Amino acid sequence: MAAEIGREAADKAGRPVVVAGSVGPTGEIMEPMGALTKASAVEMFHEQAEGLKEGGADVLWVETISAAEEFKAAAEAFALADMPWCGTMSFDTAGRTMMGLTAAELVKLIMKLPNPPVAFGANCGVGASDLIRTTLAFSAAGPERPLIAKGNAGIPKYVDGHIHYDGTPALMAEYALLARSAGATIIGGCCGTMPEHLRAMREALETREPGPRPALEEVVEALGGFSSASDGSGEDAPQRRARTGRRRR
Ligand SMILES: [Zn+2]
Repeated sequence: MAAEIGREAADKAGRPVVVAGSVGPTGEIMEPMGALTKASAVEMFHEQAEGLKEGGADVLWVETISAAEEFKAAAEAFALADMPWCGTMSFDTAGRTMMGLTAAELVKLIMKLPNPPVAFGANCGVGASDLIRTTLAFSAAGPERPLIAKGNAGIPKYVDGHIHYDGTPALMAEYALLARSAGATIIGGCCGTMPEHLRAMREALETREPGPRPALEEVVEALGGFSSASDGSGEDAPQRRARTGRRRR
């Protein structure tokens, strides 16, 4: 149903718009640590893939993955559905995924997949700065495929009984520019991202020139500190600090 709505909107856009069908993580832990078998993970992904294909999606998009096994199961399922796909993992645990993968390890995994994604990267996680640090780690690992950056609009805070993301459209515009300078070519927003964020990001990308690869200090300056000292691969990084940095537009 969502794919059909997307297809309809895309076809009315008057310019080429790709419809990506979002495939969620299974939400379960796979064998041998958990109970989910590879066969049933492949089956679950395959079922979603066929539905999205039927609804008119051009490409499948699996995100918020934390385990290599689950990523492999998705790749296998999407081959069965004969659909191109994009895949992103969430690096939300001190620079690594919940299951311990670093950005460089995801690059290695992708190079070994028989049915690799057309593009890959990171989504969600903890704030825009971490996402840029992860993107820098991907590009440093020499991936041969386009990079995706899909960070949250800031950090979730509980305000007046609901979850509010504190990232402003101006901050997300800075994030989008840094994501591009860090090597990402597919740039978007995850949790908390609203149309006004996307509008500001697009405007920034279209009106400002690509910059050089940013240093970690520049990322902290523009977007705030990282959630952990390193990206999980042993490098030191600036500590989190109050978000008092200047806001450039
Ligand atoms: Zn998210």
